[in-house]
Amino acid sequence: MSGPQVAIDLGRIERNARAVVERASQSGIKVFGVTKGSCGMPQVARAMLRGGVAGLAESRFENIRRLRESGIGCPVMLLRSPPISRVEEVVRTVDISLQSELEIIREISRIAQRIGRVHDIMLMVDLGDLREGIWPNDLLPTVERVLELPGVRIAGLGTNLTCFGAIMPTEENLSQLVAYAYKVERLAGVSLDWVSGGNSSSLPLLLDNKLPAGINNLRIGEAILQGGYETFREEPWRELEFNAFKLTGDLIEVKLKPSLPIGESGYDAFGNQPVFVDEGDRLRGIANIGREDTMIEGLVPIHRGVRVLGASSDHLVLDITDAEPPLVVGDRVSFHMNYGALLTAMTSEYVEKAPMHDITEVTGRRMVSIVADSAAGPLLARQSVGTRLEQMQFDVIEIADAEHPPAGLIRLHAGADRHVASKALTTAAEATHSLGLIWIDSIAALMPEGEEGVEAPERSVLARLLGLDHKPGALQPQLSPENVVLVGLREADPAEVRILKDSRVTAFTMAEVDGSGMREVMREAIRIASSGTVGFHVSYSPTATEIPGWASGSGGMTVRETHQAMEAIALSGGMLSMDVSGLAAETEPRVATEAVNFVMSAFGKRIL
Ligand SMILES: *Cc1c(COP(=O)(O)O)cnc(C)c1O
Repeated sequence: MSGPQVAIDLGRIERNARAVVERASQSGIKVFGVTKGSCGMPQVARAMLRGGVAGLAESRFENIRRLRESGIGCPVMLLRSPPISRVEEVVRTVDISLQSELEIIREISRIAQRIGRVHDIMLMVDLGDLREGIWPNDLLPTVERVLELPGVRIAGLGTNLTCFGAIMPTEENLSQLVAYAYKVERLAGVSLDWVSGGNSSSLPLLLDNKLPAGINNLRIGEAILQGGYETFREEPWRELEFNAFKLTGDLIEVKLKPSLPIGESGYDAFGNQPVFVDEGDRLRGIANIGREDTMIEGLVPIHRGVRVLGASSDHLVLDITDAEPPLVVGDRVSFHMNYGALLTAMTSEYVEKAPMHDITEVTGRRMVSIVADSAAGPLLARQSVGTRLEQMQFDVIEIADAEHPPAGLIRLHAGADRHVASKALTTAAEATHSLGLIWIDSIAALMPEGEEGVEAPERSVLARLLGLDHKPGALQPQLSPENVVLVGLREADPAEVRILKDSRVTAFTMAEVDGSGMREVMREAIRIASSGTVGFHVSYSPTATEIPGWASGSGGMTVRETHQAMEAIALSGGMLSMDVSGLAAETEPRVATEAVNFVMSAFGKRIL
């Protein structure tokens, strides 16, 4: 990628979520984590869930669909009323939605009834911020109308502040919300599940113990994602960490130039008439970030002494005269972003998003545990796999505790057919909270076949593991289709093509390997499989490779290309485990030999 990048520190998001959740629970409040600042990125959502949030909240159901498709099954709240035309989708995918308009609630009820459901709604009250919400005088009449609608249930009452009118939450206005909630409960003769006292801007009241009793829910985005950078402007909440998101670009020009433009003044690229102050000649740098990528006004340089002068669509002009240490062309410059800049950077398709975990250094020797089925075992022994790995400075060990393997352990599974991938991935998923998959094979194994309750046929193994055949056995949420890459695909049934197209799985066919080259394909594959995961599993079928004289591999990648793919995997350091299929007593010796050589490359064997 040659454009700017947002690095996302998932560890910070998890810790921020935990801090907010723990403080809120002391006051009997459950927190919904708001993911809209990250466009519903599943990795960010999972970090929030690890931090203990009771559910997720999103403003767009496209994002909710993305969360659901990655296997996230927790309660999800829709923060914005849908247009009438999309009501059905909302009823189907969302557990609770915020509503303030009777017309839309009527439509929700109609559709919910038609598909045999009751949809939970949270009625929003406007306490003066003048964004969404029912005006207090209209609240009880509206509730009366809603109670007549059989397809909806009033599950809560909420309010939203500091959004449009910049009205702050206070003890007074939130006590009003609680009072309205009591009135609604009395009128409806039910007790509300939720009284939702707002967004991050309500947290200062919580910390001061001034949040009125009766409020039992908050919807928190900014404080978790940005560490309360904007919520706690005056006095930061020390337990939260800033900079979970950092925008980075490259310096593409550095020159000494005057600070006043020369010539007759007109309008800039955005129709403004800029004003300049003469500071004499200054050293100026241009970074490859522009208004197409983010809201420039919300950027704060992290590098000492750097100032933002302005930007056009693709060029960010910086004053770097006082940069400490000095900057040169090719250096990378990073920025904090305010919420507006974050939102625009996350929605810009020009900005690469790179979620990552805290890198935990694995010290000491690296370990491998070899798991072979009865067919593959003797073959691995003949190829001296254990000895060769030991020569590469691995300790080959046996492990008893599958769920708590020692840090840095890589499991190598070998078996007669692709069912070995299923066993290997299931074991890998038990030992981690999120992993990716690089599937190097001539086929996708996505056939929608097989019976519930019995092992999937070999051609359906991956469909089952990803839940794409809608039968139990999926490894979600640990293995999300977004983190799965197929490499070297060269045959697919029309049914598999349909499944593949409807899923978020990425496939690099042989045509793409030929077109872009293995290096490029693997760079992208490793990026996708590592994105927000702890690492990835590699599944290799020898049918992916054209081994001279062997019919099953014909038309596949070359032996050299396969080594290149495996070397890229080794170099990335991200491989958690690996499986090789197609190894049995009847396997042709040269195929077995090559397959084992590829495994060695994946474990880091170099020619020199
Ligand atoms: C965006 C939003 C939130 C979250 O706001 P933060 O300031 O990011 O905590 C909560 N509720 C609603 C209705 C929202 O639109």
